[in-house]
Amino acid sequence: EKPSYKWRRVLLKVSGEALAGDHSQNIDPKVTMAIAREVASVTRLGIEASLNPLLSLILVVLLQYHVELGVAIVVGGGNIFRGSSRAGCSGLDRSSADYIGMLATVMNAIFLQATMESIGTPTRVQTAFRMSEVAEPYIRRRAVRHLEKGRVVIFAAGTGNPFFTTDTAAALRCAEINAEVVLKATNVDGVYDDDPRHNPNAQLHDTLTYHEVTSKDLSVMDMTAITLCQENNIPVVVFNLTKSGNIAKAIKGERVGTLIGG
Ligand code: UDP
Repeated sequence: EKPSYKWRRVLLKVSGEALAGDHSQNIDPKVTMAIAREVASVTRLGIEASLNPLLSLILVVLLQYHVELGVAIVVGGGNIFRGSSRAGCSGLDRSSADYIGMLATVMNAIFLQATMESIGTPTRVQTAFRMSEVAEPYIRRRAVRHLEKGRVVIFAAGTGNPFFTTDTAAALRCAEINAEVVLKATNVDGVYDDDPRHNPNAQLHDTLTYHEVTSKDLSVMDMTAITLCQENNIPVVVFNLTKSGNIAKAIKGERVGTLIGG
């Protein structure tokens, strides 16, 4: 039996590839809506929005006495632009390519925010570099305050630095806002001992240590991201977001996918 956890604050990492869904467009609105619905189902204000005003008032009063579940999201941008694979084309240097990649994550963040707000979940987008007409700048204490108020905070533009990834941004923001876990939403069920697309006998790992991930070179996250998680004792759950209900399960601490820790 897989044990479950009761998280109070989580950092959900949604890759750009996951947002692309069936790949007919850069961003599949069905995917953003599925994410929005599942996040709404587990956050206080999301639940309130689906109730009538009187019921929601009662719920607010009752829930004041409960520790609230905070959800922060880091979005990737690989569905639109990946710096590392575009650098070198027509004189595009790596740093410039990475800035374009970071801007791509802002597009995804705004789309996701609009979808979440369309179903009544209050959200804030914070960018790692200033684009103040579009979103708030990243301010750690402000992000935490939003979470305390039940808003979902979407972190965009990665770490703000070229040569990093949004997985590293997820680990970094998780540590900064004292979230307890990185929930990495992908298109596969978790971490396998071999590539499940090529080997039908590949086995899914239930749990892995950080050391196993790095020493076996399991492509879960880049080395910078996984090391940051290890150094700060942040567990990572890798799970499949395309299976309905999985995001809500992961946020609620029910065991899905692969848990990396210890
Ligand atoms: N990026 C960056 N610094 C960061 C985060 C992202 O330069 O801190 C750039 C990088 O070019 C990357 C792109 O943004 O390829 C998109 O992010 P990522 O590849 O991590 O997205 P995902 O794989 O999650 O879709």
